[in-house]
Amino acid sequence: MNTDPLHIVMQYAAARRRAAIRDRARLERWQESRILRHAERVREASPFYRELWQGIDSADWRRFPEIDKRAMMEHFDTLNTAGIRREDAMNLALQAERTRDFTPEIGGLTIGMSSGTSGNRGLFLVSRQERLAWTGTILERVLPGSLLNRHNIAFFLRADSNLYGSVRSKRVAFVFYDLLHPLRQHIAALNAQQPTILAAPPSMLRLLAGERRAGRLKIEPAHLVSMAEVLDPLDRQVIEETFGLKIHQVYQCTEGFLGASCSHGTLHLNEDVVHIEKDYIDAERGVFIPIVTDFVRFAQPIIRYRLGDLLTERKTSCPCGSPFTAIERIEGRSDDLFVLPARTGGGFVTLFPDFVSRAIIAASEQVEAYRAVLNTPQSLSVELDVRGDADRAEAERHVRQALADLCSRIGAQLPEIAFEPYTFVPGAIKLRRVQRRFAVNERMEPV
Ligand SMILES: [Zn+2]
Repeated sequence: MNTDPLHIVMQYAAARRRAAIRDRARLERWQESRILRHAERVREASPFYRELWQGIDSADWRRFPEIDKRAMMEHFDTLNTAGIRREDAMNLALQAERTRDFTPEIGGLTIGMSSGTSGNRGLFLVSRQERLAWTGTILERVLPGSLLNRHNIAFFLRADSNLYGSVRSKRVAFVFYDLLHPLRQHIAALNAQQPTILAAPPSMLRLLAGERRAGRLKIEPAHLVSMAEVLDPLDRQVIEETFGLKIHQVYQCTEGFLGASCSHGTLHLNEDVVHIEKDYIDAERGVFIPIVTDFVRFAQPIIRYRLGDLLTERKTSCPCGSPFTAIERIEGRSDDLFVLPARTGGGFVTLFPDFVSRAIIAASEQVEAYRAVLNTPQSLSVELDVRGDADRAEAERHVRQALADLCSRIGAQLPEIAFEPYTFVPGAIKLRRVQRRFAVNERMEPV
């Protein structure tokens, strides 16, 4: 007998109890004890962490050296607690990707592969127990109302693993849609499924919104979930208008399920599963890079792991009363910070992706979609999709002016701007509306 659904319901109930904690101090005490216990177990089972933490007491876990994706992949074999070799895991993951049959497991563990926005592939291991806990928690955070109601969920994912395809019970149906399949196939399947919940990256939600406006997509979901990509303000507006619904955001990556929006639409960090330290890069605006300690995942422990994301904290508390940290927005990736030559002196100034987005969106109402790619500090490509009847040259002029104003405000030289038609198609790669194509060193100088 498959006991998975029962376990998921139990995990769901546990997540609900954790979310009911209302007192921040109590939450932090509870977290601390969990982390301490977890660190002791990890030290015992992972040769990599044992060596890394030598001479540091677990009570001082905040002093453990940070790791990142590179370290995680480099020391894969000794970091994971199941004795799985990277080569074996990679071969299996590649095979699953080729055949798009996401059932294989290795030693009872599911393997997930992240494409990685900069091309470096990441491998992730999750045990069955962890998968069920993940599913229970995500259902608790995402489902409107109770798990005991009927839910019919359409879930769009890139390169999936059986990490996600695990739920189908009497009440909850999950249908998995492969982002690499053609759109018309999705439309037909969605029209047949009639999902009550539609969960997809915003670039796909935007495409589906277009299909709905054109009358080809005939579904009436009661709930929209955006995940896996940064939700751009322009996309949000179009999608919400089309479906007449507020978007519910899920902040989830292969490194973990990090946050979800509450009934008030505020994104909260899942501090009942992960501890997040803030490395501020702009304290005044509250912009920080999260350093994640997951105190649930044991097969591949994630402890003091530096993510590449930029988050902005919310200055005011959320009326929902949750003690979980409220986030104003996900700004994008720290790799996408624009680095531009200063107007005076020989240095460089940085510009947040979010500022670039807002400048372009505010410049012209004719802009339907855009991408801004900084190829070198002196060269910026801007892809614009403008309304059918709009004057393209005029929209470009407004965008150019807005970017010039922005650069002048921050004391940066305006790069050479080349306008191009908009070409992005959702599917194989993640949409990044603002992107930097060159590397920089720690002093934020191009290399
Ligand atoms: Zn809230």
